[in-house]
Amino acid sequence: MRVTPRGFDTEFDPAQVFDDPTEMDLRPGADNCYKCSTCDTSCPVAEVDDDFPGPKFQGPEQWRLKKGDDRDIDPSITDCSNCMRCDNVCPSSVPLSQMHNTARGEYVEGQAPSLWSAEDALADGEFREALSYLRGVPSELSIEFVRNRVLSNYGTMAGLGSEVPRLTNLVMGSRVTKWVNDRFFGITAERDFPEFATQTFREWWRERGGPKVESADKRVAYFHGDYSNYNTPEVAKAMVRVYEFFGYEVRVPTQRCSGTPMFANGMLRDARRAAAVNISNLSDFVDRGYDVIASCTSCSMALGQEYPELFDIEGTQEVSTHTYEALEYLRIHEDLEDELRDADVEFPDLAYHAPCHARNQGLDRQAVELFGELDSLEVEDVGDSCSGISGTYGWKTEKYDTSMQIGEEMFEHMHDATGETGLTECPTCAMQMGHGTGYEIRHPLEVVEAALVDQ
Ligand code: SF4
Ligand code: SF4
Repeated sequence: MRVTPRGFDTEFDPAQVFDDPTEMDLRPGADNCYKCSTCDTSCPVAEVDDDFPGPKFQGPEQWRLKKGDDRDIDPSITDCSNCMRCDNVCPSSVPLSQMHNTARGEYVEGQAPSLWSAEDALADGEFREALSYLRGVPSELSIEFVRNRVLSNYGTMAGLGSEVPRLTNLVMGSRVTKWVNDRFFGITAERDFPEFATQTFREWWRERGGPKVESADKRVAYFHGDYSNYNTPEVAKAMVRVYEFFGYEVRVPTQRCSGTPMFANGMLRDARRAAAVNISNLSDFVDRGYDVIASCTSCSMALGQEYPELFDIEGTQEVSTHTYEALEYLRIHEDLEDELRDADVEFPDLAYHAPCHARNQGLDRQAVELFGELDSLEVEDVGDSCSGISGTYGWKTEKYDTSMQIGEEMFEHMHDATGETGLTECPTCAMQMGHGTGYEIRHPLEVVEAALVDQ
């Protein structure tokens, strides 16, 4: 023992909170948090739901106390909508959404361990082992788990539904289907299911015969995502026509969902499988000199940020570095403002909402700045609030009220704006905008198409 001039004993045995401190699983960035609570005050869910403990607790506070094999995750992680606004405001660059996605994945992993093991065994061709795991599945599965898995694998359901789009629209739009979905599966009856197009974007692309422009140096691989393919092919067609107007060769690689709804529902294994397909196909194009373009800001977010944060698949970083949102890319490589300045566009005045995932990529003002050049069109930004739907979040019966409370500010500002048509880059924000106001919602690429291509 040593005594200092002030008489304090400076030697002490640190308290051993954990049996073996080397087992601690301190995630990168967890110790950067200095508890300023800025993230908590910017969280739209925490603002309307007093029971939600907020991003600081879901992220660094939990990770600081975790051991490597500790899978004891607080269930409130499923109340986080994955809007990623907390990422954007942290002054200390704590990777909050990466922590949330990882925690949600671990939580969901623990909900159906036999199912995941059976799927792994099947993938390895171990049929007998898969069968032994499958016996444990029925006792583990909950309706909530099945609902979340179905919602997060929207592309699979949409692929089936779009085989007979008119019939699917009829069935999904019926009051009986909505009641059954709400009552038995927890999918809210308050919303109208998005209609399937009678021709998907990929069908149109094949019928068209692929690209109309070839170029040795202006080449892009288009990541259209499921929603533009099955529900709003007019957005994907606008993307193709606008890029071809500027002389780009557009290719449409085989692709799966970007994974955004899977991250938000903790289905990380599904997301990894989808990412493996996307990275493999997109990196082939990147190697041949193509950049990757997405018309949905959540898709560009997934390819650009979430894949490298969560997966170690070969080619991930390469694809991430070459991924851009569609207008962002044109603004970098073309004088889009100049092209638009003299254009005379016939389009209704617009109320623009910046999706949270656009904000996270620094793209939240671009549509307003860009269309401000057009004399024939007024575009008003309706503020920086969250729309509240966050993909599949607002589709869940138990989350619907929270989702609408979050969206209230955006609805009010849309009603205050001159334009009675909405504008946004995100398909689910568009659903919420339309649901809360009754307005028709358009994509910025459709405005550019109307200004430059449809002359
Ligand atoms: S904003 Fe960042 S530093 Fe502040 S409490 Fe949240 S995670 Fe910690
Ligand atoms: S991602 Fe959004 S909902 Fe989730 S904790 Fe962060 S700010 Fe809140």
